[in-house]
Amino acid sequence: MKTASTKPKPKPPARTKKPLAPARIQAILTALHAAYPNVVCALHHTSAWELTVATILSAQCTDARVNLVTPALFKAFPTPKAMAAASLPEIEELIRTTGFFRNKAKNIQGAARTVVSDFGGEIPRTMPELLTLPGVARKTANVVLGVWFHIAVGIVVDTHVLRLSRRLELTRNTTPEKVEKDLIKIIPSDHWIDFSHELIHHGRAICIARKPRCADCTLEPLCNAPDKTFSTH
Ligand code: SF4
Repeated sequence: MKTASTKPKPKPPARTKKPLAPARIQAILTALHAAYPNVVCALHHTSAWELTVATILSAQCTDARVNLVTPALFKAFPTPKAMAAASLPEIEELIRTTGFFRNKAKNIQGAARTVVSDFGGEIPRTMPELLTLPGVARKTANVVLGVWFHIAVGIVVDTHVLRLSRRLELTRNTTPEKVEKDLIKIIPSDHWIDFSHELIHHGRAICIARKPRCADCTLEPLCNAPDKTFSTH
């Protein structure tokens, strides 16, 4: 026989009143920029090509680990032409520790060959062209366009940007593509490049996934996340 449960219903998470109000968005942008004024891409690179490769390697891997691997990789194969001529085992050996190395080697070799055959050896500067390179999806293309060329056509949505955008009630979506679309609607385009770098830094340093350091967080007065560890309001 079924008995009525006495367990209290879980409380729905508190919602911020008008989380997408322009004044709130602006306050978030201002606070982030003040906290991380000189933020740069953490992946070491000296060219658009190197940044493309480093970003491909950073999938499911820390930037620090990628930075350990890329000097030897770029020394062995300094240009797209050299990388296009490299064998898969040679590339695999140099990137083994970044995880998923067979797939990544295939993508890097394929990207190098496409850059050489279709773009005269130079990384292209448009989103549609970048998306033709094996291993390059919107996130990598946005990184290369934003960081190297200073062209803002979208917002980089990595795991931190996705997680923090949800915590800050800037989106309710769960896929990078949909989150990017939501963010593009509410973040002014002149903030697109810095916003994702700042959020990535904030996600690493303060708004940590399991135990956010809310007492040290510059966004705390603006944040109503249900899993906050400290609250002044
Ligand atoms: S207050 Fe806490 S949950 Fe909200 S953004 Fe800051 S660290 Fe993250």
